[in-house]
Amino acid sequence: MNVSEVDGVPEWLPEHLRADGIEELYPPQAEAVEAGVTQGDSLVASVPTASGKTLVAELAMLSAVQRGGKALYIVPLRALASEKRDEFEEFSRYGVEIGVSTGNYESEERWLGEKDIIVATSEKVDSLVRNDASWLSRLDCVVADEVHLVDDSQRGPTLEVTLAKLRRINPGLQVVALSATIGNADALADWLDAALVDSDWRPIELRKGVHFGEALHFDDGSQEHLPSQGSEKATEAIVRDTLTPDEDEGESDAGGGDGRGSSLVFVNSRRNAEGAAKRLANVTNDHLDGDEFSRLREIAAEIRDDNDTETSEDLADAVEKGAAFHHAGLSSNMRSLVEDAFRDRLVKCIAATPTLAAGVNTPSRRVVVRDWRRYSGEAGGMQPLSVLEVHQMMGRAGRPGMDPYGEALLLAKSHDELDELFERYVWADPEPVQSKLAAEPAMRTHLLATIASGFADSREGLLEFLQETLYASQTDEDAFLEQVMDDMLAYLERNGFIDADGDDLSATGMGHTVSRLYLDPMSAAEIIDGLRATEGRPTALGLYHLVSRTPDMYQLYLRSGEQEEFTELAYERESEFCGRLPSEFDDAFDDWLSALKTAKLLEDWADEVEEDRITERYGVGPGDIRGKVDTAEWLLGAAEQLAAELDLGIAPAVREARIRVQHGVREELVDLAGVRGVGRKRARRLFEAGIEDREALRNANKAVVLGALRGRERTAESVLEAAGHTDPDMDGVEPDPDAAPVLDETDDEDQTSLGEF
Ligand code: ADP
Repeated sequence: MNVSEVDGVPEWLPEHLRADGIEELYPPQAEAVEAGVTQGDSLVASVPTASGKTLVAELAMLSAVQRGGKALYIVPLRALASEKRDEFEEFSRYGVEIGVSTGNYESEERWLGEKDIIVATSEKVDSLVRNDASWLSRLDCVVADEVHLVDDSQRGPTLEVTLAKLRRINPGLQVVALSATIGNADALADWLDAALVDSDWRPIELRKGVHFGEALHFDDGSQEHLPSQGSEKATEAIVRDTLTPDEDEGESDAGGGDGRGSSLVFVNSRRNAEGAAKRLANVTNDHLDGDEFSRLREIAAEIRDDNDTETSEDLADAVEKGAAFHHAGLSSNMRSLVEDAFRDRLVKCIAATPTLAAGVNTPSRRVVVRDWRRYSGEAGGMQPLSVLEVHQMMGRAGRPGMDPYGEALLLAKSHDELDELFERYVWADPEPVQSKLAAEPAMRTHLLATIASGFADSREGLLEFLQETLYASQTDEDAFLEQVMDDMLAYLERNGFIDADGDDLSATGMGHTVSRLYLDPMSAAEIIDGLRATEGRPTALGLYHLVSRTPDMYQLYLRSGEQEEFTELAYERESEFCGRLPSEFDDAFDDWLSALKTAKLLEDWADEVEEDRITERYGVGPGDIRGKVDTAEWLLGAAEQLAAELDLGIAPAVREARIRVQHGVREELVDLAGVRGVGRKRARRLFEAGIEDREALRNANKAVVLGALRGRERTAESVLEAAGHTDPDMDGVEPDPDAAPVLDETDDEDQTSLGEF
């Protein structure tokens, strides 16, 4: 189907697509159009990675806008929200307005009501529903990206309930659900009353296979010789082979590639990703030219500049040699530097944990799934990855227009394993997705929200609402769901979040607050009990511990040997806890210690301990610190409101602890660190130079500011501008040497005196 034959879309679209090199729709896209996706009909599209799902979404949303409507695009990860916004931003030149909702959970973001296309995560949409954002009832089209994630026990239920609610608020809503290839796409289509496009078409051929011995064994029965050199491991041999031009390919291969290709290697832990990148860098290093070396050095410098942790140092070392690792411990800036350098073909190989398989657009000539087992805390051991996950990783192979085909490989160490991997993954169909709504944490959260935002005011009403979920459409056994529901209603009533009067249900004032704050009711109960039990003014550590022991905080594990260390710390600082330290013989004691480790990390951060020291002490990456800090900031914000609502008189102490952790500074720097572009390190340098707050910065002597900021003129100018200085221009200003910060090495020595606890 030619792009000019698509009905219902804005008239500028065909020309716009042609300019992007899109002339003919891919077959699954054409099927979607035939199924009415541009006429407002609902659709489930289950198609392989990189087969053009985004365009299906765009056709649906733009035709809705063309009809005068409004569309919402739900992304699975926060990191993807801005990526999608940037993609859709192209349409703004035709007058289509794009908005991305990234605000705090408890806001309703009324301004989004003006936008035509809005991008948000499912958690954010859920919170908007709870805060009665009125524009949600004016939606015509909702796209759910990666809808197979309804199967995820952590986040699936939110997506599921949110879609059910949006459909209830907007009768006749068009739902376009985009999914990876799954075993039961028809079940999703049934649930959403949608047409189904279920296809395994790909724009570029994918050869799947297994490496064993000295050969690649492919699914079409063919084999290819691939010997290792010297003591090289299989992954290194494959990456080297991918970088070596094929004699028969050369300049003439499809799309005019240079015959060399990039590789993505999936491994099962961060440590393995870092280790693999280090080894693979020695391979890629031999395949770079002078220009590539110098561009890679620039990127490495940017990575080192991002933060001074060992992670950033290791990453920069690898990048200089043309390899990289990618995992959730990286800061978002480091992640995008790596992804961009890979897409620009400078970084030749990325060793990644599965986070990269989810959504980020990084196609590669070859994909190696090196580890097909992963440690699972739940199962207490190594567990095989699901077929769906492995196929999603494999789907990253093949860059349309650049490679003649993509190749995805698993690695076998024995003949038996070779057979097993073919059975288990290469020839296997992905598993069906299954709703996880009936789990207790999901139910207690969503039941309260459903009652508080008026979707149900009785037990009957709740049951009726639950009938609209995927869970109900997948089971004939309603009794189990009802049982979990009744248990959770009893829990909510016991904790004072709902009132039950016969069959009638209503949320209490506190229940409304908890729902709006987007807290798991169990977190709210823990925080409320802890705040009530606090005598006097709580300390920052006490508050960090309080929020760290809620189910909304993902806690750090205690490593072997740490039990004793943190037990000691717990007794030492016992008086600071909000609530009573459990007995060592109590099951809750271990959780208390893990929460203490997390709280101590937050306290270190707020005490201005150097970032690299924190990453070392707690065995985490810079991205993890950010994650913990963001969660703590949100939970402390919620605790502040709960403290105010309970009239406990400690809300100001909670606020102070929140602001300190937000900026990572001690009390005296809170004001300065709040100035845009200042941050924790620069705030300390300015403070040491005698500039103690925003007001002082606004009126500061420019030579002193420049000296304190180590002579960096651009930084000094932007900081002064943000503080409202009347003349931030640094032209001709000489840095005051007395204001220059003492060397960072001395900072480090200072930090040691904080004690190793
Ligand atoms: P998915 O979301 O299914 O993983 P994308 O939507 O990101 O895949 O599409 C992958 C690539 O294919 C994008 O670069 C996109 O521009 C391109 N593409 C999509 N549809 C077409 C088409 N009909 N013709 C040519 N290229 C297309």
